[in-house]
Amino acid sequence: MTTPVPGLPMAVPDPGLPAEVRIHEVGARDGLQNEKGTVPTEIKAEFIRRLAAAGLTTIEATSFVHPRWVPQLADAEQLFPLVRELGAQDPGDPSGRAVHLPVLVPNERGLDRALALGATRVAVFASATESFAKANLNRTVDEALAMFEPVVTRARAQGAHVRGYLSMCFGDPWEGPVPVPQVVRVCRALLDMGCDELSLGDTIGVATPGHVGALLTALAGQDIPVSALGVHFHDTYGQALANTLAALRHGVTTVDASAGGLGGCPFAKSATGNLATEDLVWMLTGLGISTGVDLGLLTATSVWMAGQLGRPSPSRTVRALSHKE
Ligand code: MG
Repeated sequence: MTTPVPGLPMAVPDPGLPAEVRIHEVGARDGLQNEKGTVPTEIKAEFIRRLAAAGLTTIEATSFVHPRWVPQLADAEQLFPLVRELGAQDPGDPSGRAVHLPVLVPNERGLDRALALGATRVAVFASATESFAKANLNRTVDEALAMFEPVVTRARAQGAHVRGYLSMCFGDPWEGPVPVPQVVRVCRALLDMGCDELSLGDTIGVATPGHVGALLTALAGQDIPVSALGVHFHDTYGQALANTLAALRHGVTTVDASAGGLGGCPFAKSATGNLATEDLVWMLTGLGISTGVDLGLLTATSVWMAGQLGRPSPSRTVRALSHKE
C-alpha cells in the first residue's frame, strides 16, 4: 500500500490483475469525430502533444476516411505531419518511450494517404452485425471483410502494425443483443487476414461484466490470444469501468479510452459515450496498475480541451479533480 497524495487514490493492488495496462487513447479521433463542433487543426495537434506529455504512448491521431463522411477529421493530411515527430523516440527521454500514432484507414485509398505521410500504425473498422455494416459501410459483414483484406495485407507488407476495430460486439441498435459466436467469427476472420490486434467495441454501451467475460472466454476457447485483444467500452449506461475490470480479470491489458470522455454517444442522445481516460487512470492507479500516465497533466489537458469545445467534460474524475481548488 502506498500513501495517497491529493488527486490520486490510495493504491491497493488486487490479486489476479495485470501489473501494467496500455491505454489506447482515442480522444483525438473517436472523441473529436463524435463531437458536434470541428476543432481547428493546430488545436488538435496541441491536444495530441499534451496527451503525449501526460504519458500516453498510443494516441490515435486521426482518420483517413473521405472528408464527406467525417467532416470533423477532414484535415488528416494537414494534422498528421504536425504530430508525426512524436512517433520518433526521444533519446533524451529517460523512459525511452516512443509514442505510437495510429490512424484509421477505411480502404486502400485511405491506406495510401496514411502511408504516404509516414503512418506506421493503421486501423480498419469492421462490424460484428449486418445492420451496422450496412449503415456504416453499406456492405454486408463479409463484403466489408473482403474490402479490408487487401488493406491489411498491404499495410503489413509495408511494415505497419494493424489494429482491427470491431463494432457492436455486445449490442446493436437495430438487432439488440449480439450472439457471442457471431462476434467470435468476425474476430477470427480479422486475425486470420493479418490484424495484429483487435479492439472489441461496445459501441452503444450496453455490455455488462458477465457478457464481457462470456465473450473473452469464448475467444480464449478458440485459441485467440488475449494479448491480441483490446477493449473499447462506452459509458452510456455507466458500465464502462465495471466492464473494464471484468476484462482485466480475463487477462486483457490494452484498454481504449478517450481523454475527458470526449465523443458523445452517436447512437443515444447522451453526454456519455467513450470511457474517459481519467476515470480509467483513477481506477487503475487505485489498483496499483501502472499506466505511465500523469493524471494531473491529463486532467489539465481535458479541462483545456473542454474550453476549446465550449462544453464541460463528462468525466467524473475530471470534474472532481478540476473543482478541487
Ligand atoms: Mg468509441
